[in-house]
Amino acid sequence: MTDVPSLIRRTPWPQSASRPVATPIQPSVVYASPDPDTLDAQYAGATPGYTYAREGHPNADVLARKIDGLEGVEGGIVLGSGMAAVTAALLGLLKTGDHVLGGDQLYGRSLRLLSQDLPRLGIHASMADPTDAAAFEAAIRPETRMILLEVVSNPTLRVADLDAIAAMARTRNILLAVDNTFTTPRGIRPFDHGADIVIHSVTKILAGHSDATLGYVAARDPERRKAIYDFAVTTGMTPSPFDCWLAERGLYSFELRYDRAEANAEALAEFIATQPGVTRVLYPTRRDHPDHNRAAALLGARGGHMVSFEVEGGRAAANALTRAAPQIAFAPTLGDIGTTLSHPASSSHRALTPGARAALGISEGFFRVSVGVEDIALLKQEFGAAIAAARDAAKG
Ligand SMILES: *Cc1c(COP(=O)(O)O)cnc(C)c1O
Repeated sequence: MTDVPSLIRRTPWPQSASRPVATPIQPSVVYASPDPDTLDAQYAGATPGYTYAREGHPNADVLARKIDGLEGVEGGIVLGSGMAAVTAALLGLLKTGDHVLGGDQLYGRSLRLLSQDLPRLGIHASMADPTDAAAFEAAIRPETRMILLEVVSNPTLRVADLDAIAAMARTRNILLAVDNTFTTPRGIRPFDHGADIVIHSVTKILAGHSDATLGYVAARDPERRKAIYDFAVTTGMTPSPFDCWLAERGLYSFELRYDRAEANAEALAEFIATQPGVTRVLYPTRRDHPDHNRAAALLGARGGHMVSFEVEGGRAAANALTRAAPQIAFAPTLGDIGTTLSHPASSSHRALTPGARAALGISEGFFRVSVGVEDIALLKQEFGAAIAAARDAAKG
């Protein structure tokens, strides 16, 4: 026997009459219960308590409750990525023989899931234009079980006819799932418009610092909520406690960041529109936006933090533009604290034929900007110089 304490035994957590102000990080995978009666009661849901981190952990729950509050719902769950959230919503609720109807400008991986992975499992999917309610309705089939929409599309920022589609989903008993990543609950709360399911890539502006990959999904109906949760836990879509902690930290400033980024986006769109060599600027609340009236009805004055524009001169002008703006990250993401620039023709939409891209209005001179919270004067200076460089390249 030895009286040296074993290093293998856990040292009790120090007592403190005061509590930490910041949220603690809890990385424990397992939780020890006092006895089988208690564990039994935990599994039965009669006593609260965690058991195993894949099933749930405090950092995920703290984050989920915050996003629940933003979306006006209860019981949402946080998962390991936005795509995990999309997948859990679809595969947790659909079965072989069902049909899902998606918007035709969904996030690229969502389109792939619908068009390539679901059919392998005998779940049919097709896409239709959600800005045209009649065309969308015509694509509904007797076996359509779910509609998946984004309110503002990527990268042309078209605005879906959400209220008309929600009404047709309701009368036909079809589930409406809305990926609210672009618009965020600051722009619109889809549950208030009849959505059954709301999805987020928390990776983007909710977390806001490009350092955590996470998703969120909530369903209004408790049974569907449980089906999505069970599917996600069974297939291991668990988020990391540290990532959840980072995202929760990001959320404290979400509203401030969103409002500042949105004000910057509106001003930057206005500025870009005045620059010679710019052929098009897309921003939902601009009078020249094709869905301007619907944007006003659905989003009010909230145009969001994304702006798209097109310069003359094709790929050569596009190369000159990104090279002339080295401080603006040319990176295929959105929602970072700083402004980032993406070029759909060489990234998100590279798999499309030039003809298919042209049909969407995505040329080699087309850019999408995720506007950050920088000083607007700096953004104008940087974009002014970048567009001037594109103009020179277009001439030369
Ligand atoms: C990024 C994104 C996703 C996927 O989220 P990840 O966290 O990257 O998996 C889904 N939908 C939209 C609209 C997105 O922008």
